[in-house]
Amino acid sequence: MHESIKFFIDKFRELIDIEPVPGRYFRPRPYKNAAVCFRNRDCSIEDFDARVEIAERTGFNVFMFPSNMIPGCDLLSDSGTTTMTMKQWAQMLQGDEAYGSNEGFQELKDQIVETFGPQWTQQDPEKEVLFLFHQGRAAEHALFTLVSRELAVRGEDLAPLAEASWMGGVSPELRRAISEATESIHRRIGRRGTGPKDVKFVIPSNGHFDTTQENIEDSLIVPLNLPCSEHLAKDQSFFFRGNIDVDKLKLLLDRGADRVPLIYLTITNNTGGGQPVSIENIAAVAAVAREHGVPFLFDACRFAENAWYIMQREPGYREKGIRHIVREMFGHVDGFHISLKKDGLVNMGGGLLMKPGGLLEGKYPDLRDKLTDWQIMVEGHPTYGGLAGRDLKGVAEGLRTVVRKEYLDHRIGQVEVFGRRLHEHGIPVARPIGGHAVYIDVDEFFDAHNVKDEEFKGLAFTALLLVAGHRLCELGVFAFGRYDPSTGAEIPPSPRVNYVRAAVPRLAYEDQDLFSVVEAVRVLHEHRDRIPAVRVKYGQDLTLRHFKSRFAFVD
Ligand SMILES: *Cc1c(COP(=O)(O)O)cnc(C)c1O
Repeated sequence: MHESIKFFIDKFRELIDIEPVPGRYFRPRPYKNAAVCFRNRDCSIEDFDARVEIAERTGFNVFMFPSNMIPGCDLLSDSGTTTMTMKQWAQMLQGDEAYGSNEGFQELKDQIVETFGPQWTQQDPEKEVLFLFHQGRAAEHALFTLVSRELAVRGEDLAPLAEASWMGGVSPELRRAISEATESIHRRIGRRGTGPKDVKFVIPSNGHFDTTQENIEDSLIVPLNLPCSEHLAKDQSFFFRGNIDVDKLKLLLDRGADRVPLIYLTITNNTGGGQPVSIENIAAVAAVAREHGVPFLFDACRFAENAWYIMQREPGYREKGIRHIVREMFGHVDGFHISLKKDGLVNMGGGLLMKPGGLLEGKYPDLRDKLTDWQIMVEGHPTYGGLAGRDLKGVAEGLRTVVRKEYLDHRIGQVEVFGRRLHEHGIPVARPIGGHAVYIDVDEFFDAHNVKDEEFKGLAFTALLLVAGHRLCELGVFAFGRYDPSTGAEIPPSPRVNYVRAAVPRLAYEDQDLFSVVEAVRVLHEHRDRIPAVRVKYGQDLTLRHFKSRFAFVD
């Protein structure tokens, strides 16, 4: 090779891993645009007044703000907001809309075996592995409702949780968490007006997602979060802050495994800031679960992102490859449910999977048949499960793309760079930065300004960002707290969380877009003393109130 060519190759190589700064990149994105959507059809970034008018009319509730009026980044959710690939669109066009056993159903089942491993193969023609639903929460609702019906029969002779003697042996901290969750269920029963019922079971997790939590409570089971101590201590040097506290889990199971119908790990831990769970933690939970004969499940929405973190951060996994790691992860569980709107890379879809020979089918032998009935009653024939035939082809293709290393490098790298930029401007963000979102810490943002929870400054912050042209979401004292009508007081979530989340849709934005959010946030941070308090005009006392309420700025 010519000496000069060699010289320049060396020079180019030096550029490869240069830290990207706005306008200065050597490494291109791993994809290019195949179709684009102009965003400022109805509202350009300068149309501040138009956005204020609409924001006031929709009561500053970000969910009610029309998306065509957002010229900047819509970071409300990374769920179902994926830009699909050309290959996915090509698959969609070939969709088979048959009522029974459309072509995509078998293709998706084959792809599931390919992605999650040979253990997810149907062994008996009568015993289905895959249960399709229109989205993740529909799978949750079916699972927890059906399991709780079974438990109502099995638990007839068990004493209620709160008075069971086994509670004496668990730590005061656990006991408090269980009592609080039990009270929340009692409030729910009170609202329903169905009279008190006994609460007898607990489903532990590293961190239940909000709809998972709601669905478990709705089935009169206590959803218990056992995040690891590093997470509680906000330890920034710990790379697997999504982990569950295995010691607490052991304690719970040693005291009363008969109280625990299922164990869950959410990968990545969405509620805990999109933090990953290590393979070591997964294996430890699997061992404890098996020892006590309790089925172990994943909430697997971001399984590929979690696998990428294991590859990057866990000793011995650098060389193994994403596909291998995914199979290893899923070798440990008895089943999983998944919102395909995340790492399925599609706009709609969900599923529940039951491993042949696993403890889920072992412990609940009728569950499969009941799930099928449920699908028929609620979703349609089980072979399309509430989705169009074309959707199944799109998912199969999405599962092939999502485990590609270059996709994940870029995806998680983009969120990381976005978070780092905010951090460099002194804006407090949860660190390490999570895989799908950047969480801005509202308490620290307003630190030293003596802010009261009742002022809902996180909501004021998202309202002003709407005016700037971007949509983020408060997930803090408003979304997770509640109003006590008897005392008129706001009760913050426990353990306390107070974030505004910027969730980054997959394959949708370029860094320039995200950096424009950084600029808007930077200005708000610089002048945070000028951010007014917010008053709730409607819905302060409602359940799931962040979706429904309306607000106004306090004069
Ligand atoms: C999105 C999500 C769900 C619910 O799935 P939907 O498809 O939105 O109904 C459940 N768990 C986690 C961790 C999620 O992120």
